[in-house]
Amino acid sequence: MTGTILHLLTRLSEAGDDAILSGDLAAPFFGAAFDRLLAKRIIVEQAPLADWEVCDACECGLPCRPIRKAGDAFRAECPLDRQQDVDLTEADLRVFRISGEALASAMGAAAGFGAAPKLATEKVWRLGDTPSGRAVFLALEPAALTGDGIIVSLRQAAQGSDITILAPQLSAEAARRLDDAGFHLIETLAVLVPASKGLGVAIDVAALAPVPLVPTLRVRRATAEVQWDGRSVILSRQIFPVFERLLEKALSRDQVASQSHVEGTTAREAKDLIRELRDAFKAAGFTDAESKSLIATVRNRGYRLGVPASEVVVEG
Ligand SMILES: [Zn+2]
Repeated sequence: MTGTILHLLTRLSEAGDDAILSGDLAAPFFGAAFDRLLAKRIIVEQAPLADWEVCDACECGLPCRPIRKAGDAFRAECPLDRQQDVDLTEADLRVFRISGEALASAMGAAAGFGAAPKLATEKVWRLGDTPSGRAVFLALEPAALTGDGIIVSLRQAAQGSDITILAPQLSAEAARRLDDAGFHLIETLAVLVPASKGLGVAIDVAALAPVPLVPTLRVRRATAEVQWDGRSVILSRQIFPVFERLLEKALSRDQVASQSHVEGTTAREAKDLIRELRDAFKAAGFTDAESKSLIATVRNRGYRLGVPASEVVVEG
């Protein structure tokens, strides 16, 4: 884990309700950035510690041991064994509480979202929207995403937008439930990247959208090459225009090429051209059924490519 204070706060807040930052954990981060977090009340200083836990397996019977001033520093003394005394600095005695709401604000700002986050449901904030229109939510605790109504609540809060959820690591079952609902789930710590400005952390907005599926059909016009399902076919100069006419339809609304559209300006019949096209795929190792599923017959209407437009990539 990279060592920014916002990483630390995220990790601590994920642990649960009273997100407390102890002075000894905080001390390495004391400085200007830490002061900004205090000023924004993302962390709020509490009364300093007045006592310390008793030493392991101690027989003193005390619930805790008092902290006494010892010169410039402090000491938690064991009444039974001086060797168990703990020397403490002033920083060790400081205690901070992490404000979930202010932390959500800081995360929204780190992602570059303009408006303040809105509480969507208990401990889940709607941070903002990505430029591509995804609604981004932040859950500070795993428990915030396991309630019965959570999927409905998030859908309502997203008002029809696609949903990305930043969250702590969830159980496999909880993660699957959100995934089945079509939500894109990301571990918060995975999208935090160091930044020189602000609170020292930015959220990589590009990482908030799911990675698109690998296209299954790739067409290179310059070489008349068609890659499909891990195999590659180079079509002849005579037959490639037929494939291109099917391709053009596949990328349009109707998707079905009529016989006359397949024939184009050739003097040949569509069924012969289609057979030749399928033969070219079979020669490259596809089965008869595979070539007929790629170059599909639509009864009484014509032919179509058996690949959705979203899975087609055409290069020049
Ligand atoms: Zn003791």
